[in-house]
Amino acid sequence: MNRLVIASSRLFDGVSETPLDNAVLTIEDGVVAEVGTYADAPPAGAVHLPDATILPGLVDCHVHLPFDASADPVASTMAKTVPAATLQAVRNAQTLLRHGVTTVRDVSSPHGIAIELRDAIAQGLLDGPDIRACGTHLTITGGHGCAFGIEVDSVDEIRTAVRTQIKAGADLLKVMATGGVYSLRQTPEDVQFSVTELRAAVDTAHERGLTVAAHSEGEDGIRTALEAGVDTVEHGNQLTPELAKRMIEQGAYLVPTVGAFTTVAASPDLPAPFLRKARQLVKQTERALAIAREHGVKVAIGSDSGTAPHLAWEDHPTAREAAYLVDMGGYAPVDALRSATLHGAQALRVADRKGSLEPGKDADVLVVAGDATADIAALTRPLVVVKRGRIVHRAA
Ligand SMILES: [Zn+2]
Repeated sequence: MNRLVIASSRLFDGVSETPLDNAVLTIEDGVVAEVGTYADAPPAGAVHLPDATILPGLVDCHVHLPFDASADPVASTMAKTVPAATLQAVRNAQTLLRHGVTTVRDVSSPHGIAIELRDAIAQGLLDGPDIRACGTHLTITGGHGCAFGIEVDSVDEIRTAVRTQIKAGADLLKVMATGGVYSLRQTPEDVQFSVTELRAAVDTAHERGLTVAAHSEGEDGIRTALEAGVDTVEHGNQLTPELAKRMIEQGAYLVPTVGAFTTVAASPDLPAPFLRKARQLVKQTERALAIAREHGVKVAIGSDSGTAPHLAWEDHPTAREAAYLVDMGGYAPVDALRSATLHGAQALRVADRKGSLEPGKDADVLVVAGDATADIAALTRPLVVVKRGRIVHRAA
């Protein structure tokens, strides 16, 4: 039996309201065996990390693995050969893992790269986080993300495109329900797809057990997406109290991706319309977070790493995204930690194995320096990362 015992000053299990002090986490054969405490000293043989916090591995619900976060990541990626883009994806996935992200959802990549990488990691060919991948997103002809998305304009085309992604191995479907920031031709308020069209996408995906993530920034597009029955609202900048109530009724999750907008808003080298739109959306996001918190909408963390210009993979974007919930959204650190772990696992429908440290679940663990339950910035200080009971990273 493979056994690993980790002891630290505190542990947040993803579920409880308060952390456990003087905690001992016992892992056996890759799963959590026991979460307990020590009295005077940590047990002999334990990996002891004083003044640290043991957490479930982080779940980042919104990344684009092959993209390089340059000033124009889509153009730069599409100019690469498929092997070159794949190697970039490997590097990015391993950066996430080193930072404690043990589960990640890729919400659109070209060439099936995230699907292949998911399988390579699952087969043990290389280290990386567990990946849920959508394949490539659906958009309207000339719509948001059309540079590499699948352009569809009718119910029949939509059904075929969804089934093609399922055939390619997608775990979920991604649709662009509105325009966005990185385009001179559309605005976040533009509604893409009718309710009928989106419903065809959602029904075709749900029939086969896939969830649906909808890029939806403007209010009307969020409403359309919810009417069609999507499972996660990506960005959701123009969330209203009415839409928040609807999200709760339907059990939909919000993935705000705050860092994507703040980073663009602070990048004067980008085209002026991008900056203008991003600055507007940052203000709206602040309001959306307050509405989500007041109404109790379940929020999951998504960094939008890869396609967000200048949001560097190396800069702990997932941790920083959790910090936005505290600093911009007024969330308690423990609630932001829950968003970055349990809520993410629930949004990805993997909470039976991931998202919390409870006996029987996968031992995906992050230990950070300091008290993350009081200081969310501690998430940027990973000491040890464990995936399925194996230490995959240890700070020097
Ligand atoms: Zn994105």
